[in-house]
Amino acid sequence: MGSFFDIQESLDSPREVSIDSYLDTLHGFKQLRVMTMMVVMLKMMVAIHAGYKVPDGVPEIRIQPGSDGSPAALANLIVVPEGFIDHCLGAAFAPIDRVVTSDFDLMWWSDELISVYGFAWAIAHEYFHLARMHWIFDANDGTRTQDVSLATERDADLCAIAMIYRYMQKHLSHFADDTTLRQAALYSVFWIVRSLPNASKAGTHLPISNRLRDMSIKLAMLREDPSEPPDPGAQLPATKERALYLRDCLVRCEQGYLELFPESESMWRELQIAYEDSPLRRAVLEWDKIGH
Ligand SMILES: [Zn+2]
Repeated sequence: MGSFFDIQESLDSPREVSIDSYLDTLHGFKQLRVMTMMVVMLKMMVAIHAGYKVPDGVPEIRIQPGSDGSPAALANLIVVPEGFIDHCLGAAFAPIDRVVTSDFDLMWWSDELISVYGFAWAIAHEYFHLARMHWIFDANDGTRTQDVSLATERDADLCAIAMIYRYMQKHLSHFADDTTLRQAALYSVFWIVRSLPNASKAGTHLPISNRLRDMSIKLAMLREDPSEPPDPGAQLPATKERALYLRDCLVRCEQGYLELFPESESMWRELQIAYEDSPLRRAVLEWDKIGH
């Protein structure tokens, strides 16, 4: 246990730095990669802000050098542990042509985009907690029930994957068709999320299998034309078709993951249950019960 003086020292030491200051500490290829991650992430934050008009503006993003863990949203600040940046940079992945089926060649793809879009997804998740005012569901003493916690986490996951898809659609639709882009969005985020510590035991997040399943269903619901409303009830044949090919894409991702990490616990059973439990219905709609 640390003494009072240790605690005081840790309180006084600068724990968070600006993105610029952090980039200045990096060199060479890593600096270039992190810079690309930050540029895309910041562009995405501006796009979210344009849609939500958060009164305090785009939250400040600060980096915590030398610390581990996941990003966290605190009032108008998003804190990103350096360890999470490294997690995105170092994520192992199966080659895209083993996972994403496409009638077109995938020459436009670069493997760097996994860290770029995966990181942007994680920070967008945090920003959506702020932009969609998830704190209003907290009790007066700042606590939140497990139901509210799970619903708000799911909402942030789903808004963030939708954001990644729309961003890719805007910037990459000259190179790839819609089917390919939706799979590429899921593929990018899979490698970042799959290897996160499973937080479901703490009761604050759903199991990773459910989170990935729900994101694949959200991607299926979104219409190609962003001005058209989503199709949560799968009324349109195209929605069902998308749900199937995205499910298959997720299965190929998991196959690739288990080939890379044969010792890790497989999600086959969980994924099977997750899809049986709610083919396009319950899980994603539960948010509506909470208040949107
Ligand atoms: Zn969250």
